[in-house]
Amino acid sequence: MEQSSETSTGEAGLDAYALGGRERTRRAARAAVAARRLAGEGLVGVALTWVDVSGITRTKTVPVERLEHAAAWGVGMSPVFDVFLLDDSIVSGNHIGGPVGDLRLHPVLERLVPMAALPGWAHAPAHRYAQDGSPHPLDARALLRRETDRLAALGWSVKAAFEIEWAVSKGDGDAFVPACKGPAYGMTRVTELAGYLRDVLGALKETGVTVVQLHPEYAAGQYEVSVAAEDPLGAADTAVLVRETVRAMSMEHGLAASFSPKVEADSVGNGAHVHLSLWREDAADGPANAMAGGSGPYGTTAPGEAFAAGILRRLPALLAVGAPAVASYLRLVPSHWAGAFACWGLENREAALRFVTGAEGERATAANLEVKCLDGAANPYLLLAALLATGRDGLDTDLRLPEPVDVDPAGLPEEERTARGIAPLPSSLAEAVAAFEADTVLRDALGEAVTDTVAAVRRGEIALFDGATPEEIAAATRWRH
Ligand code: GLU
Ligand code: MG
Repeated sequence: MEQSSETSTGEAGLDAYALGGRERTRRAARAAVAARRLAGEGLVGVALTWVDVSGITRTKTVPVERLEHAAAWGVGMSPVFDVFLLDDSIVSGNHIGGPVGDLRLHPVLERLVPMAALPGWAHAPAHRYAQDGSPHPLDARALLRRETDRLAALGWSVKAAFEIEWAVSKGDGDAFVPACKGPAYGMTRVTELAGYLRDVLGALKETGVTVVQLHPEYAAGQYEVSVAAEDPLGAADTAVLVRETVRAMSMEHGLAASFSPKVEADSVGNGAHVHLSLWREDAADGPANAMAGGSGPYGTTAPGEAFAAGILRRLPALLAVGAPAVASYLRLVPSHWAGAFACWGLENREAALRFVTGAEGERATAANLEVKCLDGAANPYLLLAALLATGRDGLDTDLRLPEPVDVDPAGLPEEERTARGIAPLPSSLAEAVAAFEADTVLRDALGEAVTDTVAAVRRGEIALFDGATPEEIAAATRWRH
C-alpha cells in the first residue's frame, strides 16, 4: 500500500486527500532523491500518466531534473481531457468541458519506475489536483483510493489483477496483419515470436512487474499476460505499465500491439478480465481470503459471497465503465468466452463471473472472482473503483448469490434462462449507459460529476459511430487504447 501523510479516512468527499504544504515539501524531498538516482542510472525523462474517461492513457512528461518541482507543484494539464473521445474529438458535460482551467498532474512517487522497454524513460502514475491542492473530482486514481479506504474502514482489503490480452500485427499499417500463423494456444506461436516475447517478459521483470503467465490466446496474433495480484491502486498502475511495456516492445520489434476490445470485426476480441479477492484484515492469523475456507458455495465465506453478489447484481451498469467503447459490444457476444450473460459459475468461461478456487491445497490464497465481461478500453482505476463500490454494496446488504451456472448459458433454451434468472448483459453501449445512469450505488460512490461525464463521453462515442459498420468501428478503435 502507498504510504502518505495525507489523511485517508474514507469520508464521503475527496477532500480528505487534499494536498497541503507539508505534504508538498515531503514529496519534493523524496523526488529530489529519486531524481538523483534516476539521473545516475542514465534516465532522462519521466512520463506522468493518467487514464481518461474514454480509457486512453494520456501523459505529460518532465526531464528528471524537473521531477522535484513536479512532485511538489504538479505539471499543468487542461481538465478538458476528461471529455475527450477515443478519436480525440471533444464533447462537453455539465461539469467538465471547454478550454479554460488548469489541473496539476502530480507523480505518485511510490510507483515511480524506470521503464525497461523505453530506455531513458521512467514512468509514474499521476494524481490530478486543482491549483489549491484539492483533488480533481474526476481523478479516477483518487476515486479508487477512496473506495479502498472505504472498504478498509470496514475491515476489508482487496487484491486485484488485470489479465491483459493483445493482438500483434506486422508492421505499422492501419490494417491488422497477424504477426504469427500458429494455432490458438500453440507452441508454434511462441516459437514464431520467441525473441519478442522474451523481450516482453524481460522488460516487465526489469520494470518490477511480477508476471505469472504469458500465453498465446485464441484469436489470430493474440497473446495474454497475467500478473500477480496487488492492492487495487497497484493493480491499476500495473495494468498501465504492462500495456505501455508491451506496446513499446512491439514497436521495437517492428510490430504493433492492439488492446482494442475487437481488433477485427469477425474475430474473438481482447478482454481485460479482472481478478478480485476480498481479505479480512483483522483475522486472528493475519489477513484471510473471504473467497475461501467458508461454508458458502465452493467454499466462499458469507462476506466473500456478498461481495461477489454485489458485483453480479450491478453488471449492466458496471459495463458503462468496464466495457466502455462501442467496439466493446462487438466483443461481448455469447460463446466467445467474453462472459455475455449475467450469471456466475465455477470455472465457467461463459459466465460473466467465473469463480476460481485454485487447486486443492492453495485455495486459501488462490480463490478469487474473475470478472470476464470487461475489456481494455476501460479506465482501470475507474473500473476498480466501481467494482469495489458494488462489492461493498453487496457486503452492506449481505447479499447472496443465485444458483451457479455450469454450462454455456447460450446453449440453454431461453425459457430456462429466464426461469433461472440468467439475463443477457447489455448488447449495446447505450443500454449499459442507461443502466449506469439509473444506478444509485455507483452514482453515490463515484459522485455526480463522474456519472455525468462518463455518460456524456459514452454518448459522444455512440454518436461518433452512428450508422458505422462493425468493420468501421473495429478499424477506428484498433490502435487507440
Ligand atoms: N478473448 C476472450 C475475451 O474477449 C477471453 C479468452 C479467455 O477466456 O481468456 O474476453
Ligand atoms: Mg485470456
